Amino acid sequence: MKNYKISIIKGDGIGPEVISATERIIEAVEEKFSLNFEKIFVEAGLEAYKKYGTNLPDFSLEKIKQSDCLLKGPTTSLEGEGTELGVPVKIRKYFDLYANLRPLKNFPHIKSIFNGVDILIVRENTEGMYSGLEYKLSEEVNVGLRVATKTGAQRIMKVAFENARERKKKITLGHKSNVLKMTDGLYKDVFESVSKSFPDVEAREEHIDALAMKLVMEPQNYDVIVLENLYGDIISDLVAGLVGGLGIAPSANIGENFAMFEPIHGSAPDIAGKNIANPIASILSFSMCLNWIGEKDASRTVENAVINLLKKGEKLTVDLGGNSSTQEVSESIAKEIASISV
Ligand code: NAD
Repeated sequence: MKNYKISIIKGDGIGPEVISATERIIEAVEEKFSLNFEKIFVEAGLEAYKKYGTNLPDFSLEKIKQSDCLLKGPTTSLEGEGTELGVPVKIRKYFDLYANLRPLKNFPHIKSIFNGVDILIVRENTEGMYSGLEYKLSEEVNVGLRVATKTGAQRIMKVAFENARERKKKITLGHKSNVLKMTDGLYKDVFESVSKSFPDVEAREEHIDALAMKLVMEPQNYDVIVLENLYGDIISDLVAGLVGGLGIAPSANIGENFAMFEPIHGSAPDIAGKNIANPIASILSFSMCLNWIGEKDASRTVENAVINLLKKGEKLTVDLGGNSSTQEVSESIAKEIASISV
């Protein structure tokens, strides 16, 4: 039996609901693939802030460091001047999880405007507008620094091109270097330079505003899209909306030696505590986790179990047009996992 240590942040709002649903899937995978996941629960988010005055205490970071990977539920961010950075931003920076992979595609029976959408957003995760460098210059003026480094650009472009090579061999850089000449200009130059090492990948560039328009008109034309931090955050929610919403949108935050997996969505206070949140985004994030630790069969099985469930169209949460509860959906996915032959 293979053993892994997985740290888990349950998160706020719908976080504990979707994470508990994902724990059921971890059990199903353990049983089917003779794996053992030692779960290390970690306090972080709004509840931790209320208890300890910080959303990510040092002892939580120490616990995360003891694990092989982190599964994170959504956490509520404090807003306004002087408040702390959000938990995911802090963790990405602390562990240098520079590559945020957000696969977004059509799934069976999920209503969407287009068919044939299958996009991987590769978002730079540690710099750009989310560097956390904001200052008050005077009573009148606040500024935020937008950081772009050559090393940061090179490593994210490399990840993006490598992923494109494994997919349909098409990559698009979204930028605004006509205005942001130093920062986006650097990303554009590095994109062009890295593209020379990937002659088999068709590389193109688009201004971010034009890209936003084209994505809502012809999303089928895109494969991998590589973006600076803030652009990536916004554009991935847009594409999630094109394929059925945030309830089915997973993500991986990957560094050299560690990775965090979390649904793209937030803590959804509007539906928290009702047992109606869609757990699929969180479950598919766990599938990405399995892939990253090398359990490829288990990863594929979890994704196929989700697809089988969606094909049947019976057990769906409200956001997908059904009336099943969070737990009913995960129980059904667990049954699908058990019934798939590998
Ligand atoms: P949100 O993603 O929480 O919600 C947006 C909309 O999508 C809401 O209508 C919500 O009900 C719906 N939704 C989200 N997840 C769903 C699911 N699994 N099933 C069904 N419907 C779902 O975004 P928001 O309202 O902008 O943010 C709420 C809080 O979450 C904020 O404090 C924000 O900072 C935080 N947030 C955290 C993360 C993270 O931890 N990675 C990401 C985004 C937002």
